Amino acid sequence: MSLIVQKFGGSSVANAEGIKRVAKRIVETRKAGHEVVVVVSAMGDTTDELLDLAKSVSPLPTGRELDMLLTAGERISMALLAMAIKGLGVEARSYTGSQAGMITDGRHGSARIVDVTPGRVREALDVGAVAIVAGFQGFNRGTGDITTLGRGGSDTSAVALAAALDAEVCEIYTDVDGIFTADPRVVPTARKIDTITSEEMLELAAAGAKVLYIRAVEYARRHGVTLHVRSSFNNNPGTIVRNAREGDTMEEPIIAGIASDLTEAKITVVGVPDIPGKAAQIFTIVASTDANIDMIVQNVSSAATGLADISFTLPKSDGARVLQVLENNKADVGFTSLQYDDQIGKLALVGAGMRTNAGVSAKLFTALFEAGINIEMISTSEIRISVVTRADTINDAVRVVHSAFGLDSDVEALVHGGTGR
Ligand code: ADP
Ligand code: ASP
Ligand code: MG
Repeated sequence: MSLIVQKFGGSSVANAEGIKRVAKRIVETRKAGHEVVVVVSAMGDTTDELLDLAKSVSPLPTGRELDMLLTAGERISMALLAMAIKGLGVEARSYTGSQAGMITDGRHGSARIVDVTPGRVREALDVGAVAIVAGFQGFNRGTGDITTLGRGGSDTSAVALAAALDAEVCEIYTDVDGIFTADPRVVPTARKIDTITSEEMLELAAAGAKVLYIRAVEYARRHGVTLHVRSSFNNNPGTIVRNAREGDTMEEPIIAGIASDLTEAKITVVGVPDIPGKAAQIFTIVASTDANIDMIVQNVSSAATGLADISFTLPKSDGARVLQVLENNKADVGFTSLQYDDQIGKLALVGAGMRTNAGVSAKLFTALFEAGINIEMISTSEIRISVVTRADTINDAVRVVHSAFGLDSDVEALVHGGTGR
């Protein structure tokens, strides 16, 4: 008898019918003789609606209260799911994150898991029950407060439980058939990937492919958890995400997939004295805000002025804070002005095979050129090339690059549920 962790995202449990459908599926797995631990997200767009509600009563709600509010979403779905499973004649018990032993640090809104003590989950399994755990939430021992793991964090809850309980597999059920070569909402002819390395998935997730939460992929990689991303709407096999094994590289496709991101903005620090230490000074100031900066480009300084421009990208949600600290240090750094641009889109082409393949960049840039799309910034890693374009060209950019690399499939991908919000 093996232990399986099954995580169901919000779109899979959007309404009563969805909850009943998911319950049936869990019961089938239990009846096949497996121990089943379920992690469930809030129903449909509940989390977004709760956030809207919070904003309508307070412009800047505190992290503690926001977490208290948001965790209510998962509490609703876990209890309903347990009821539905019991209705099918199988014992089930629901647990909040703290009851399930999801211990985190104290960072409200983006807490990290520091320990998992799933004693009560184990007890439930030992009496033959299905354990249902509320995703996305944890408990901080220091303050005794409830925390959340960041948007999309139920994936992390599932992986952490799978690691702690030594599960055979962690199944991530969602509204598409698996991980595709691009978001099927953007590229209907995207192709389903059968197996992808955690290294590649990490790059895709970092670049905006929200089908898996980046921290969940990191956690799975570190703990050697195998992920199976699949649809909760059918029984098709999905995508296996696992660590690379020796010899894998032999048959690797050059490109695994393409991701895009519209949540970033660009800050340009104009007129920075081109002398040693200025980049260090600027990014030390930026780092003090804890913002996650990504691409950095410095142009050549003009000989006449000895001044250079430095641009970098960062989440829009960090924009105001970073502009403020830079402005506060303007005289000290000695730059001329700041520019803020939140109309950018980022496209990333990912594939372990590009390591050994020259010409990938040329092909990417040519495809964009032929579509009349201007590239504003470029950055690369060993297995990724990213470019920044105007936001309103990003979906076209994804489609033309997808075709240029021969990734299109003959059949259209099905998106079963969800609003994509
Ligand atoms: P859940 O509610 O199950 O957590 P999410 O909305 O977080 O689901 O993730 C599933 C969605 O991720 C899909 O509906 C799809 O639009 C989007 N997505 C983005 N990139 C990809 C990709 N490469 N492959 C599959 N889905 C993707
Ligand atoms: N309900 C949370 C969210 O919408 C967590 C999750 O679904 O993974 O972000
Ligand atoms: Mg998700």
